[in-house]
Amino acid sequence: MATEKKEVFNAEAGAAMMKELRSAFASGKTKTHQWRVTQLQSLLRLAEDHEKDIIAMMKASCKLALKELNHWMTSEKVKTSITTFPSSAEIVSEPLGVVLVISAWNYPFLLSLDPVIGAIAAGNAVVLKPSEIAATTSSLLAKYLGEYLDSSAIKVIEGAVPETSVLLEQKWDKIFYTGNGKVGRVVLAAAAKHLTPVVLELGGKSPVIVDSNINLQVATRRIIAGKWGGNNGQACVSPDYIITTKDYAPKLVDALKTELKNFYGDDQLNSKDLSRIVSSNHFARLTKLLDDDKVSGKIVHGGQRDESNLKIAPTILLDVPEDSLIMTEEIFGPLLPILTVDRVEDSYKIISSRSKPLAAYLFTNNKKLKEEFVRNVSAGGLVTNDTTLHVILAVHTLPFGGVGESGMGAYHGKFSFDAFSHKKAVLHRSFAGDAPARYPPYTPGKLRFL
Ligand code: NAD
Repeated sequence: MATEKKEVFNAEAGAAMMKELRSAFASGKTKTHQWRVTQLQSLLRLAEDHEKDIIAMMKASCKLALKELNHWMTSEKVKTSITTFPSSAEIVSEPLGVVLVISAWNYPFLLSLDPVIGAIAAGNAVVLKPSEIAATTSSLLAKYLGEYLDSSAIKVIEGAVPETSVLLEQKWDKIFYTGNGKVGRVVLAAAAKHLTPVVLELGGKSPVIVDSNINLQVATRRIIAGKWGGNNGQACVSPDYIITTKDYAPKLVDALKTELKNFYGDDQLNSKDLSRIVSSNHFARLTKLLDDDKVSGKIVHGGQRDESNLKIAPTILLDVPEDSLIMTEEIFGPLLPILTVDRVEDSYKIISSRSKPLAAYLFTNNKKLKEEFVRNVSAGGLVTNDTTLHVILAVHTLPFGGVGESGMGAYHGKFSFDAFSHKKAVLHRSFAGDAPARYPPYTPGKLRFL
């Protein structure tokens, strides 16, 4: 299995793989509690053996699934109604079957293994297709998952568009895709052919509303951590743009500059704490956003770039036009435009005039504004007075997923188990309580009861 990269993955190989997976699932082994526990424990062992390469969050997901598995697998008894008396009812979580996980490059271990953990915990056979852009991680995943897990039911197929296209031609019982919306549409169209349900974990422009009655230093630090920390803006829930009032904007820009200097020093372009842009394609995409005539003269901080090292300094732009490229595309990089409004409440109109984002953030001490934010802003998730923590520190009690153009479906914690399960409705009747009124002939007397 670990050598699958070297073999040609064409339509024939795709069909043979599906046959093996279908037969593994049909054997019933993946449905057993024991199989799920063994595979999850092997994943945990993989994480422990290769700790340096693997993020702690994956261990947390695996441990949570192992701890909760019995509970998650137990059917849920629910009430019945008088019309079915005497009866009992339960909701049984059953695995969907053979599922496909296609993941993205920007957190390549996490975005691959977190859904795979959910798929295994739910008792499915699973194929993982990691991102070819994070090539080293992709081959590590192929190697290690092959070594540690049951390769008849859990496989890694490496590759780019041709290999993914072959995978998408197969009939799956669920497709879980993480990446951009353009490919999300390709996945959804392929899934439609077989009526395959999908989870699409996409992106979008996640706004940050900044009110004026806040602890400015803490707020700017948290905006910086969410925007430039870790992946230098290359995260799906990274703040994409800020909305604040005209009056407050200069104070906010000054505070951002001060804290950026505290964190990254005077030569921010060359700071060792700032990640590179992942590829020259993405570097070119980002510089195009900066070189757009519509934002000329709008840079109030940063703007430096070094193509040979794929580095772009933390860059802030003030009062960019709403129809500029930087405000119409997801930025996914270290550029942070600020829009200004007369009143902070005017932010809602801007946000709701755009596609629904994956995340939205609000900094305020105003209780009413917080309530309005929760009521008015539709996004995958909301955070007040911080950024990204609902996902980055994986609050397992919260679902993670988008809405509208930021995606459909959700995962993390129990939501991952549910994403890969069918909730089967089961009603148990007894032979008692057989009402004649239910059966023909439907005399007027009987019809009164129906
Ligand atoms: P990417 O380039 O790694 O692509 C994602 C996957 O799609 C890869 O496995 C790739 O092989 C596959 N792919 C690419 N083109 C394809 C095609 N034509 N047909 C079939 N498959 C194809 O990642 P990306 O899309 O650049 O990732 C960035 C985007 O993903 C951003 O929009 C970001 O917001 C979003 N994202 C979302 C989440 C989330 O959890 N919601 C997480 C990370 C990234």
